[in-house]
Amino acid sequence: MGETFGASRGSAAWLKVSGGSDEALDRATGCPCGGLPRGATLGECCAPVIEGERVAATAEALMRSRYTAYALADGDHLFRTWHPRTRPEHVDPEPWVRWVGLEVLDVVDGGPGQDAGVVEFRARWVAGEGRTRQRGEVHERSAFARRAGRWFYVGPEAPTP
Ligand SMILES: [Zn+2]
Repeated sequence: MGETFGASRGSAAWLKVSGGSDEALDRATGCPCGGLPRGATLGECCAPVIEGERVAATAEALMRSRYTAYALADGDHLFRTWHPRTRPEHVDPEPWVRWVGLEVLDVVDGGPGQDAGVVEFRARWVAGEGRTRQRGEVHERSAFARRAGRWFYVGPEAPTP
């Protein structure tokens, strides 16, 4: 009996994890990026940008939509918003990495009337479960450029000499 309970608990936990992306696609839930403004839902924040309903107005909004695309494992959005000059041939977010938090640390330019901007952020991830669980973070100052009215991710900002 105990064993059965354990097994069903295990599979329920697994379903919860694997069902995570469906849940995240619910536009009424809080945006994975934390929301701009803070607490905005996925439908108010990143989903319209990811689904092409509107373009990101600022470099920060594009950066947030890319974080959310990583969180939802949406490689298409990552590819489309990567500057053609620097983008890899394929962008395949690793589905076993769960992105669990974004902090925007600094924004320089990248406003609606500008053509370049920098966004510094810290993104936290978790992979695996139980004893094999690993955590890490990505900390980057990213450069963005706007061409033909659209913001693109260029890459990590070149260190200033
Ligand atoms: Zn968002």
